[in-house]
Amino acid sequence: MFSATVGYQGALSHTPASLAETRLAMLALLADYPEQVLFSPYSAAAHTDALSLHDLYSCPYPRQNQGQFGLGRSFRQYRSDLTWSREAACCVPDTDCADCRHYAAGSAIVTARMNRHIGSVDQFRAWLDYVDTYLAVWVQGYAKNPNLGTVPIAPVLARQTGAGR
Ligand code: SF4
Repeated sequence: MFSATVGYQGALSHTPASLAETRLAMLALLADYPEQVLFSPYSAAAHTDALSLHDLYSCPYPRQNQGQFGLGRSFRQYRSDLTWSREAACCVPDTDCADCRHYAAGSAIVTARMNRHIGSVDQFRAWLDYVDTYLAVWVQGYAKNPNLGTVPIAPVLARQTGAGR
């Protein structure tokens, strides 16, 4: 999923139309190849929203997580000279957080926000589908379960739940 680097405003930048088209393509592939495509309707919703993953879920990686909790406490991205910078530390160098829709980044960002998905049964099902997808992709031997949600529900902003970070 393309995410612009800091300062990039070229032709690859997403637009509302390209995000909508991408979402439709994701959902079509999921429907047509359910045995081969490890994804969920909520995964498509989270990664093609008009807002970035950081804007939607408050990224816990060190670059954005300046608080006491989150990956910023222990995540270290060492350079060849063994220095480390919290301002730059992330799994995807140079990506503009305001445009971050990376698949791998979402594996940490969305799964860390269970508290944003407990306002309704549909929200919680969507979050379970996302976590289930994440486990099926990253954990050897973990088999994907059928998705509980059938349609892409809108991601939940913190201000809508009062759940905070
Ligand atoms: S680029 Fe994405 S994963 Fe990295 S710190 Fe920014 S929002 Fe988080």
